[in-house]
Amino acid sequence: MDEEKTKGQRLEEELLRNPGTLIEKDPSLKEKASAFCEGYKKFLSCKTEREAVSFAVSLLGEHGYTEFARGKVYRPGDKFYMVNRGKNILMCTKGKKPLADGMRVSVAHADSPRLDFKPHPLFEDSGMAYFKTHYYGGIKKYQWTTVPLSIRGVVIRKDGTSVEIKIGEEEDEPSFCITDLLIHLAQDQMSKTASKVIDGEQLNILIGSWPYDDEKVKSKIKLAVMSLINAKYGIAEDDFESAELCAVPAFKARDMGFDRSMIAGYGQDDSSCAYAELMAEIDTKDPEYTTLTIFADKEETGSDGVTGMRSYFFRDFVEDLAQSEGIEVRHVLRNSVCLSADVGSAFDPAFGEVYDTKNCAYINCGPIISKYDGSRGKYSTNDASAEMMGYVLGIFRESGVSWQMGELGKIDIGGGGTIASEISVHNIDTVDIGVPVLSMHAPVEVISKADLYMLYKAVYAVYNSRKPKTF
Ligand code: MN
Ligand code: MN
Repeated sequence: MDEEKTKGQRLEEELLRNPGTLIEKDPSLKEKASAFCEGYKKFLSCKTEREAVSFAVSLLGEHGYTEFARGKVYRPGDKFYMVNRGKNILMCTKGKKPLADGMRVSVAHADSPRLDFKPHPLFEDSGMAYFKTHYYGGIKKYQWTTVPLSIRGVVIRKDGTSVEIKIGEEEDEPSFCITDLLIHLAQDQMSKTASKVIDGEQLNILIGSWPYDDEKVKSKIKLAVMSLINAKYGIAEDDFESAELCAVPAFKARDMGFDRSMIAGYGQDDSSCAYAELMAEIDTKDPEYTTLTIFADKEETGSDGVTGMRSYFFRDFVEDLAQSEGIEVRHVLRNSVCLSADVGSAFDPAFGEVYDTKNCAYINCGPIISKYDGSRGKYSTNDASAEMMGYVLGIFRESGVSWQMGELGKIDIGGGGTIASEISVHNIDTVDIGVPVLSMHAPVEVISKADLYMLYKAVYAVYNSRKPKTF
């Protein structure tokens, strides 16, 4: 049909970028992406980093992975993993090339914005018992009232034993929520700015209202609830001091739209990217370069702490690998490349004014590559080099992976960071790539199935490429 095209049309095809949706380019993606997302919906039942790591460990066990043993010499195709404090997992498939030639790394975080418990969470007021929370990550606080919540986490009891708490999601379990003011009396509240409509100290979760049956008891509601918690979990009020508990939205992940083209669910920042890289890692059987797939933690609060990407756990792990081949960790890092897999903002026509429509990402147009993020004059950003972009995009072209470039929003409106800077500080060439999300950080976030599937293909392509790094 080429001869029917005009010279201008041919030149247009040759010289101008041709954006388009994934499904227009390849209708067969509908089926592949939908099948891929059946597993993803199961992964979304993990709502904390600990749950995501446990899920990964059991899936890896089914796919021939063993726990990393320091000093062991791994052979090409060997698969192994290491868990850091129950909150990070580092997964590898040993490549044919020596580690000195570098690794192919991808990192996604498994923590999401939520409501952590304060150390003294339990109180009663006006005939009701509550848990006080301290929000974790960036949230619009008003979104977290009047949605069903489930409570998750772990408590270390006084005798040193631990108990996992997970309640509020199943049909036969009680639910929890934070109340809001009735509209009839909300004249003053409604005139406040959105950041003040609900105050941090108002994010108290309602957990009970029936009193303990004993006239002599002072805090009857509080005691009644605490005795139920004690009966179920064997803990007392002071055990909350050695606990990590949080409340997360109790919604189950669902297909969205009449066409079921999207997924609605909590924590898709960054469970979507975590699942894509997990499946790419598992499906990589015989790579040229050793893969390293990581679930990060604490990304939503700045990557600090022993499980955040500023921690040395990552470098220490690579150092252990390097020593088993008798080389220095820095030489492995210098030759490695990393996909920092984290979601980006999808253009939302309801709020079109915050986007540069020529440089933002659109749903169903593939994973977003962000050469840089940060804010204003590119502050606090990893800015991938032209060489790194050329390397990664070259792999995508060769492998039939579609992508889109995307900035978060207009330059002076805001900004955001990812863990890319925490990776590149180790002298690893890094670029951000991730799924476009609508309603990011809201109790329910929306993504496209096709975008997620294409991100999986992108990570898989990098893991399975034989292309040497020459920059
Ligand atoms: Mn994220
Ligand atoms: Mn986030």
